[in-house]
Amino acid sequence: MDSRTQQTLSARLQYYRDLGIYDFYRRDVANPMTLIEAPSEPALNEPKDAAEIQTAPKPESPVADRAAALRLIKEDLGECTRCVLSRLGRKTIVFGEGDPHAELMFVGEGPGADEDEQGRPFVGRAGQLLNKMIEAMGLKREQVYIANVVKCRPPGNRTPEREEIETCSPFLLRQIAVIQPKAIVALGAVSARCLLGLNEPMARLRGRWFDFRGTRLAVTYHPAFLLRDPRQKKETWKDLQMVMEYLGLKPRQAVE
Ligand code: URA
Repeated sequence: MDSRTQQTLSARLQYYRDLGIYDFYRRDVANPMTLIEAPSEPALNEPKDAAEIQTAPKPESPVADRAAALRLIKEDLGECTRCVLSRLGRKTIVFGEGDPHAELMFVGEGPGADEDEQGRPFVGRAGQLLNKMIEAMGLKREQVYIANVVKCRPPGNRTPEREEIETCSPFLLRQIAVIQPKAIVALGAVSARCLLGLNEPMARLRGRWFDFRGTRLAVTYHPAFLLRDPRQKKETWKDLQMVMEYLGLKPRQAVE
């Protein structure tokens, strides 16, 4: 099997896994009664050179109606009680929002108090800064898709725990598989670690491209961190410029 077919197949298998379907077989065309084991997948989430990622074929979206597919994920999520966050003061599940056909997706950590109130991601102070970042990239908020690793507010805005992330992130992975953005920006270390499975400090994650299941992924500082340490906005702007160059976007202004 050539590497393009293998990658397309691998992306499709991963998509089904994210849907909760694990058992696969394929029939030998010459002998239809013989079952052949699914191929083992290439390693995921390894940092790659940009050139290497650029040549990787983009798997075709398996989803015809992305808005409907996102609605289905939301329905599956329902009034979720799968992890303790549902019992620790959550008011609203924050599913995520934006253009189902977005070329760019931002992934944060988890809702804060404002998001929990309004049921929308990044609407508090950090959200206002994220809006500025998006606008500085020459985009409108409605043109991107914004979601979080966990969909319920951790009490006191603590970092989500491993079990919470493991329970909730399959829904995020399904959202990504439906939207098939050209690029993902992971906001902060929690998001980066969840998506890449790498336990590296931010300094080693920023300023480069990673491969997330055939999609380019960049890591930058979380806007809440930038509110505490505005000197890092310059670095964030460099990360965003890397993304803009890839997406062919013209800057409006640097992030201030
Ligand atoms: N911080 C996040 O990580 N996500 C939000 O939606 C809001 C603040």
